[in-house]
Amino acid sequence: MQSFFAEGELIGVLTTQPLDRVLDYKAPEGGCHLGAFVEVPLGPRKVVGVVWGPGKGDYDRSKIRSVIRVLDVAPMRDEMRVFLEKSAAYTITPLSAMLRLATRAPGLGDPPSMRKVYRRGTGLPDRMTDARRRVIDASEEMGGLSLTLHELAEAAGVTTSVVKGLVKSGAITEEESPRDSAFPLLDPEYGAKELTEDQAAASESLRQGQRAGAYETVLLKGVTGSGKTEVYLEAVAEALRQGRQALVLLPEIALSGEFLLRLEARFGARPAEWHSGVTMTERRRVWKMVADGHAQVVVGARSALFLPFQRLGLIVVDEEHDTSYKQEEGVMYNARDMAVLRASILGAQVVLATATPSLESWANADAGKYKRLTLTSRFGVAVMPEMRAIDMRREELPSNRWISPSLQHAVAARMARGEQALLFMNRRGYAPVTLCRACGQQIGCDHCDARMVEHRFLKRLICHQCGESKPVPTVCPHCEAEDKLAPVGPGVERLAEEAQALFPEARIAVLSSDLYGTARELKAQIEAIAQGGADIIIGTQLVAKGHNFPKLTLVGVIDADLGLQGSDLRAAERTFQLMRQVAGRAGRAEKPGEAVLQTFQPEHPVIRAILSGDEEAFWQAEADERRAAGMPPYGRLAGIILSGEDVQKVFDLGNWLARNDAPLRRIGAMVLGPAPAPIARVRGRHRVRLLVKAERGVALQAALSEWVGAARLSGDLRLAIDIDPQSF
Ligand code: ADP
Ligand code: ZN
Repeated sequence: MQSFFAEGELIGVLTTQPLDRVLDYKAPEGGCHLGAFVEVPLGPRKVVGVVWGPGKGDYDRSKIRSVIRVLDVAPMRDEMRVFLEKSAAYTITPLSAMLRLATRAPGLGDPPSMRKVYRRGTGLPDRMTDARRRVIDASEEMGGLSLTLHELAEAAGVTTSVVKGLVKSGAITEEESPRDSAFPLLDPEYGAKELTEDQAAASESLRQGQRAGAYETVLLKGVTGSGKTEVYLEAVAEALRQGRQALVLLPEIALSGEFLLRLEARFGARPAEWHSGVTMTERRRVWKMVADGHAQVVVGARSALFLPFQRLGLIVVDEEHDTSYKQEEGVMYNARDMAVLRASILGAQVVLATATPSLESWANADAGKYKRLTLTSRFGVAVMPEMRAIDMRREELPSNRWISPSLQHAVAARMARGEQALLFMNRRGYAPVTLCRACGQQIGCDHCDARMVEHRFLKRLICHQCGESKPVPTVCPHCEAEDKLAPVGPGVERLAEEAQALFPEARIAVLSSDLYGTARELKAQIEAIAQGGADIIIGTQLVAKGHNFPKLTLVGVIDADLGLQGSDLRAAERTFQLMRQVAGRAGRAEKPGEAVLQTFQPEHPVIRAILSGDEEAFWQAEADERRAAGMPPYGRLAGIILSGEDVQKVFDLGNWLARNDAPLRRIGAMVLGPAPAPIARVRGRHRVRLLVKAERGVALQAALSEWVGAARLSGDLRLAIDIDPQSF
């Protein structure tokens, strides 16, 4: 394809505006490259876009406008355009929405000279007005950030002339923004560790893949603490030696602090970071440095996959089985699968690291599509904790108590030795249900089909679905009885209360995502615990991931059956993964660990597989079941979520789609539903789901588009397509 367009030539520009088509423009003075980021006029506005190809010329040539200017960033590479097109086609997303993911660089369209640093000055305005006060406050609050005049005015809710006046009087100062400082160079040889035989073999295989410089996906499997991170860091080192960039995706931002320190120890300097907790100024810098090829390694959340790498040679997806890689709103994509897609276009290596693979990855490795590397033992003297079940049918427990005498005994033994114990319960808040003892009704959310969960530390009832919260009432909203509301069932906060009553001397820390306002607070708490600042840790799913607590030697799972009750076909897989992960927290250092599972069904196949650690048998059995049912990864699924305020209209639309399914029948696919979606009502909108099931090799997208394209979306009805839904 032509890669440079001379001044006046017709070009097609894709913008981030939701008009899903490439528009014709004339190339600007000096011409422009294919892939160049440009500013173009669109109606009365100026918008950012990317030169996508030659113009179509199907529009009155005299009306075609010129590109305003070419932005000062490296053009988007061909590979990236192909990636955006393919991921848009796969997820059935408008290309412009995909481009939005790839241009999340704050201030991308601003000329650099427009950015200034505003600070509080010593001068005073002749008269202090409310608007002026707000600007001064805003400049104090955002002091040191690099902003445009418009951004500061907008933040203060005033017009730009107010800001200009204050600059003139010296009440605030305006300085040139400093140039972006470069990232320090990472040294692949710095801090290299001596590897065990197992690790050396695995990293040699990864290094060879890096040297070959071709596409491959490797499933790096090994129990927690076996040194997987150490191994894939060798692949990162090799990418650095080859002059390529590397991306490491993590599921949990809260973990990135500990992780960055580790990378600094390994490579002598900190890599770039990309996630929602990173400031705008820093994000702008990272985006640009990645595009210029100056950021060698990026550690980030799933959205980092859309950064404009110049020479990406490696993508690591750490904890690849983690469900948070699936984005469930807006563009519904699975970052793990999109990483494989991007790498296959680029000719790069993907490393999927996990102790408990997703069934999808396990099946791909089994079929030979992914290479499999396995670390069999824990590093050093650490061994997998011993696992046993506590049969809850045999434990004497008064009502509203969840820590069995056997577990209490085990915790006491650890505490006596100055070690830490973790009690795991995957339920946030104090109690999952608040019930009125007078009328028997539960308190539900006004907007969703969900219960309100009491959070005693925050003194509020919170809906975990939509976030709605209110103070805990004293009067029942149904029968108006006073002081009859009672918590039913346990959450981590209630468990902490029970543990404190059993162990009055113990220092107890609760790790639950809602208790920390910021990622920094959470990080500080995790560090304090790692230093030994707690005897008993009570935690939700958050603790299952990657933290290293050297003194932790006992993990007690309060309700190992919790995940097994759902009707979700993935329930067994999830429970298996989660329990293995949590158990893996114990005994990571020299001290041997122990994991105990409280269960009412010790003979359940999943519980037995967890206890015996016979993973292959578990996956094989799980795979057989899915294959027989034609479910993923052995069949294909797509979810169609319909939503609207009027439940009848939503169902009518669902029924219409179910009846008019000719495009699907032509490819042998079938429609299940409509049925209430897994989350049936959110923020007052009813949600109904249709599931489309097809055989594995079928090209589903074209038929799906044709099918839903025929639906009439009147009023507030909305339709979203979720390819490869997480729950089914
Ligand atoms: P995983 O990623 O499989 O959970 P890690 O890579 O985090 O395992 O390794 C577990 C612990 O063992 C870490 O503290 C790590 O620094 C240490 N470790 C692993 N391999 C080595 C090695 N070859 N030399 C020194 N320490 C190692
Ligand atoms: Zn709600």
